[in-house]
Amino acid sequence: MEAPPDEPDAQDEPDAPNDEPDAPLSEDERFLRMALDEAHAAAETGDVPIGAVIAGPDGQLLARGRNRRELDQDPTAHAEIDALRAAARARNDWHLNGCTLYVTLEPCPMCAGALVNARIARVVYGCPDPKAGAVDTLFSIGRDPRLNHRFEVRGGVLATECAAVLKRFFAERRRAGPRFTPPKP
Ligand SMILES: [Zn+2]
Repeated sequence: MEAPPDEPDAQDEPDAPNDEPDAPLSEDERFLRMALDEAHAAAETGDVPIGAVIAGPDGQLLARGRNRRELDQDPTAHAEIDALRAAARARNDWHLNGCTLYVTLEPCPMCAGALVNARIARVVYGCPDPKAGAVDTLFSIGRDPRLNHRFEVRGGVLATECAAVLKRFFAERRRAGPRFTPPKP
């Protein structure tokens, strides 16, 4: 996410996509939009805006999670981990067979490993992560036959919007940068 920010464009309109008179949202898009809401909430606490939700085997919302590394000062507090914990608590069962996890950014190796351990059935993500993506981009955890569990993966759902949230966050942080980082010599 180090690319220079583009000129502000139509992305400036908060929630503008909701007003589009396009085709109705697919089920995957509907849940990913909930994950986007969580991403926005993460940004409010200074955390990188990444959100996740989990749907149960019945297709109902089971749990929500968001990145809270800064809030909790916890390197493992990624959105997926937060959502997995909430889902396991909700079901009183750490086996999340039949559940689908929706996340705005492709899961990292830690989270992909946790998804294997949770026996999740399916993962749907927004934008790929060229630096840490571990279900498609850098690794294919989830499709590796050497592991004891595999899950289905669908990427690129609402990818532009999911990427835009991150891009805005980093652009704003760069603008605020001089307050937090020493000036260049
Ligand atoms: Zn992660």
